[in-house]
Amino acid sequence: MPKPAALVLVDGSSGLQFDYGLPDHLATSVVVGCRVRIPLRNRAAVGTVIDLHEVDEEGFKLKDIQSLVDPEPVLTPPLINLARWMSDYYTCGLENAFRAMLPQAARDGKGGEQMRKQVRLIGDAAELVEKLGKRARRQAELVTHLDTQPKKSQRLSELLDELGVGRPSITALEKAGAVVVEDVVVKRDPFADEEFLQSSNLTLNPKQAEAFAAVRESIEQAGDEASAIKPLLLHGVTGSGKTEVYLQAIEFALDRGQGSIVLVPEISLTPQTAERFKKRFAAIQDQVAIMHSHLSQGERHDEWRKVLRREARIVIGARSAIFAPVENLGLIVVDEEHENSYKQESPPRYHARDIAVVRAKLEGCAVLLGSATPSLESWHNTQIGKYRLLDMPERVDDQKMPLIRILDMRIEARKQQGGMAILSNQLRQLIEKRVADGEQTILFLNRRGFARSLLCPECGKVSECAHCSIPLTFHKTDDRLICHICGYARIVPRRCGECNARNIILAGYGTEKVEEVLKKVFTGARIARVDTDVMKRKNMLRKTLADFKAKKIDILLGTQMIAKGLHFPNVTLVGILNADIGLHVPDFRAGERTFQLLTQVAGRAGRGELEGEVVVQTFTPHHPAIQFARHHDFIGFAEQELDFRQKFEFPPFVHMVMVTVRSVHAKRAEFSLKTLYSRLKRDLPPGADIGEPLPSPLVKSHDQFRYQTMLRAVNPRSLVRHIRKVMEPLSFPEDVIVTVDVDPYQLS
Ligand code: ADP
Ligand code: ZN
Repeated sequence: MPKPAALVLVDGSSGLQFDYGLPDHLATSVVVGCRVRIPLRNRAAVGTVIDLHEVDEEGFKLKDIQSLVDPEPVLTPPLINLARWMSDYYTCGLENAFRAMLPQAARDGKGGEQMRKQVRLIGDAAELVEKLGKRARRQAELVTHLDTQPKKSQRLSELLDELGVGRPSITALEKAGAVVVEDVVVKRDPFADEEFLQSSNLTLNPKQAEAFAAVRESIEQAGDEASAIKPLLLHGVTGSGKTEVYLQAIEFALDRGQGSIVLVPEISLTPQTAERFKKRFAAIQDQVAIMHSHLSQGERHDEWRKVLRREARIVIGARSAIFAPVENLGLIVVDEEHENSYKQESPPRYHARDIAVVRAKLEGCAVLLGSATPSLESWHNTQIGKYRLLDMPERVDDQKMPLIRILDMRIEARKQQGGMAILSNQLRQLIEKRVADGEQTILFLNRRGFARSLLCPECGKVSECAHCSIPLTFHKTDDRLICHICGYARIVPRRCGECNARNIILAGYGTEKVEEVLKKVFTGARIARVDTDVMKRKNMLRKTLADFKAKKIDILLGTQMIAKGLHFPNVTLVGILNADIGLHVPDFRAGERTFQLLTQVAGRAGRGELEGEVVVQTFTPHHPAIQFARHHDFIGFAEQELDFRQKFEFPPFVHMVMVTVRSVHAKRAEFSLKTLYSRLKRDLPPGADIGEPLPSPLVKSHDQFRYQTMLRAVNPRSLVRHIRKVMEPLSFPEDVIVTVDVDPYQLS
């Protein structure tokens, strides 16, 4: 007779799946997505239920599931479908996909709920105080104090601390039936201390209204005929009011009883962004969950639970929030969809924007990608009719796009002989004027530290990391050379390690050095620096940005941390100190990245009543990425760049898959890759090709040597299948690690 069984994917088993029986006491509570304890070859194991079905027990008996790890399922059926897709597309294994979907605490099977002891007054305060009177003054004080607390209760440890009483006083009150000491769940709400004033919908301008209507239509239709719904790409210049469109679309979905997910790049998920959403939905702010990496593990887990329990219906978060278990999903928004940080650089190497599109298709909801500088992948999809393009080419309130000036630093370097040419004369004068007029300036430099590196002028040697093949960066505050890849630090040598010369110098410059220079040049101006070095301290970023907004800072200097999403009406000048960094790297996306960065940074200027101005310092003023950015011409840039991509067969015209082999032994890495290469080359699917096996541009990292080969194909599926088939039977030496990166973004 057929009997119900659960198909369980066993944790840590490289993909083993077995059927288990359901004992009576679990017959109804085990559902798809539950974490369960199971017997496996005489030991206990944990796994995830991925399917329920019936089996015929003939000649064998199924083992039973022992118990549930969590009382409720942690994954929903649509998420399990999505994980299957990921496992197939990224060739990452189903369990790896599950891991990406769950917060750490949930993965580890910790209920995640933190308990604390709380003391609550249950007797009548006046009566008690009278009874205790002078006999037990301490206890009477305690009662009076608790009586004034919200809900007449307080955390035990706080209470002891605040009143300076001992635990025996409380025990005495407990015995007398005046108070109870109870365990309560700690709600870790990262915004617990804040109040949000309701902000109301703005009246949409005609372009916004058009975009909003398209999103609304998409939300309405998605439920009916899911497959026909196209993803939407909102191309709106910086300051065109994209966020307002998102907010109203989310509200529209909510009114239909549907939830939303909004993805924001980690780096622009600033307090400002989170606040904007919290404010708009202030009346229901408990229904807004915020997820990003600065939350503690506990906080993250609590936010996720809120979603799982359907208490939260709107999720704002960075990359992994795309897996939030929102049910009845109406809309997924991916803001700044071109951002590279949506790509996860460890397994599973997924791209959250691509996952958003797939999830929307699987769940039948609308998906809206937004950017001032769309990725060429998404842009191309609008050109071939796969996506629908919405555009908002103007800023709200007819604010002008800022004027962009290009300054040729080759000329400047010749003028400032011997100097490092950090600041051109023109930019200096413009800043001086802003400081005098009480307007603000943002200076942008994409490099932290004091000076780039230690260079020997005799033999030309640059001090490199001992574990990675890149130059070390000098950090003045620590007086150390630090590796920005692995964190390796060493003291600064006095002589060149190569030729023993004494006159080694610091070449190049970083934010720390620029700050020092600025302080000398603009005496009296208030200057602040924002980069990952300074902002390691918690809440420091928040405080600095608040000070800047309150006009307590004249010049804000920073790395890409300040490039995006910030909105300061009083900023009328933005200076980009070295537009060339990033242009001369071995990556076909270098031009696209530079264009995006310049456009985004420039977008920080002139967002108020005052007009904005942008100065770009560069050693390659004629580079197309710089020229198109100067003219705010995304479409022109995209046309030229797509031409180039098509000619050289780069994405979006093909998909790439990078296979990397790493080992501490250079020879073994190289040999393993060559073996793999020759097998991959055999029986390549039609239309696919494979590049020569080569050392990676970053040939050594974290003490490991890296070799890579790049495969390309129009159809990624058949290529990935081929790679999987080749790799499955192969075994490599223990110290050799092989990784497969589908649609890679880091080519080094
Ligand atoms: P984007 O996300 O496209 O860069 P924002 O949504 O941040 O642009 O909008 C820029 C500014 O314009 C914000 O201060 C926002 O409050 C304001 N804004 C947006 N839409 C409108 C509108 N319809 N009317 C008035 N102000 C608006
Ligand atoms: Zn290193």
